[in-house]
Amino acid sequence: MKYISTRGGIAPISFKKAVMMGLAIDGGLLLPQTMPVVDEKTVAAWGRLSYPELAHAVLSLFIDDIPADDLRELINRSYATFSHPEITPLVQKGGVHILELFHGPTLAFKDVALQFLGNVFDYLLRESGEKMNIVGATSGDTGSAAIYGVRGKERINIFILHPHKRVSAVQELQMTTVIDANVFNLAIRGTFDDGQAIVKSLFNDIPFKQQYHLGAVNSINWARILAQVVYYIFAALKLTGQGGKVDFAVPTGNFGDIFAGFIARKLLPGRIRHLVLATNENNLLTRFVLQGDYSLGKVVQTSSPSMDIQVASNFERYLYFLYDEDAGRTKEAMTHFAQSGSLHFSESEQQKIRAAFLSASVSRQQTLAIIRDFHQVSGYVLDPHTAVGVSAGLDHLDPAVPMVCLATAHPAKFGAAVQQAIGRPPEMPESFRDLDKRESRCRVLDADLAQIKAFIEENAI
Ligand SMILES: *Cc1c(COP(=O)(O)O)cnc(C)c1O
Repeated sequence: MKYISTRGGIAPISFKKAVMMGLAIDGGLLLPQTMPVVDEKTVAAWGRLSYPELAHAVLSLFIDDIPADDLRELINRSYATFSHPEITPLVQKGGVHILELFHGPTLAFKDVALQFLGNVFDYLLRESGEKMNIVGATSGDTGSAAIYGVRGKERINIFILHPHKRVSAVQELQMTTVIDANVFNLAIRGTFDDGQAIVKSLFNDIPFKQQYHLGAVNSINWARILAQVVYYIFAALKLTGQGGKVDFAVPTGNFGDIFAGFIARKLLPGRIRHLVLATNENNLLTRFVLQGDYSLGKVVQTSSPSMDIQVASNFERYLYFLYDEDAGRTKEAMTHFAQSGSLHFSESEQQKIRAAFLSASVSRQQTLAIIRDFHQVSGYVLDPHTAVGVSAGLDHLDPAVPMVCLATAHPAKFGAAVQQAIGRPPEMPESFRDLDKRESRCRVLDADLAQIKAFIEENAI
């Protein structure tokens, strides 16, 4: 399996190279050159596998340059950190199926991908004898999942910038209580955007980037998407073992998670009917699905902060498929978008979009209402991101087709919104209870490029 760029500017590369490259060097995103075809017999056999076995079967279709036993070991190690024996269990509540993706070490779905990516990086660096300094900015969830993905790894140091006192108390503690020698938490006196801008400048400084072997863990890495394809297949096969179809409702920010669903839909022809794309008030992607209008708005703050995003960094991957794998057209469209901040789609393109996707945008009030109502009806507590997905899923519920709603975070991560909705704080999982008593380590710095750069130079591996 070789990988190409959505913008057509690179010669096909192997999986290993694609993981290390992250963003394609022509500015596009990496995708498989051809999509594997899976026959019904294979699909039927997949239905009998455990989560790690299924992950191995699916990932092997896309990874042919890591020996099978090594890949199995990487997968087993990645999911041994999950606290549930089924890794991503499916529970039936309130008329829908909730796919719980939050049993990893940081209690959000990003662990599914970042535990795997951390182990793949570690494996590839051992093989090449190289080292890597991961640098990233976070508004909360990605930072802790990335830190847990690489903590204690010999050939990797990680520097995560978060806005000082602007992430939730739990999110801050989740990051700063990881005191492994290779983990550096930097609290920046400024906003998330300031942190993001600094990280961007560091990556654009090519001599610096090369000298310190900077690595990224953002959601455009193909290995992250690939790891997420697995739970869609896992859930779909549980519910369609005897035939039939299933719909998925997915709370979306960067179009990453739902793009993994789109790939799963391609791999399992006829089994996944609709992907319900759920946005909060940052509804760029809902306007895209419903009106064929992909134009930038202003970011507003909601109770589901991990979806407070306007530019969906994985959107380009879907665009490439919408344009029938025409890289020239994709490049042209992305250039136009960079200049004008908008893209418009024809009636026939819109029909194609709506054959796969339904969509709804869910307001802050609706989010609180659904947390409250769902709890009343089923006794189950939703986190605000999951609630956005459940609300959109219930809007599009078809009694003849099971609706799987992705639960992307444990409610305890977003306790304030949950308390507002149901009048009491969510129950704290075991691993959270003593968080504020653990030793923590964090450095507070100004939002100043020179200071951050000096800190990294001093502490790089
Ligand atoms: C990151 C995140 C999302 C959005 O996922 P995308 O892949 O960016 O669409 C949803 N919910 C939670 C809890 C997240 O952390």
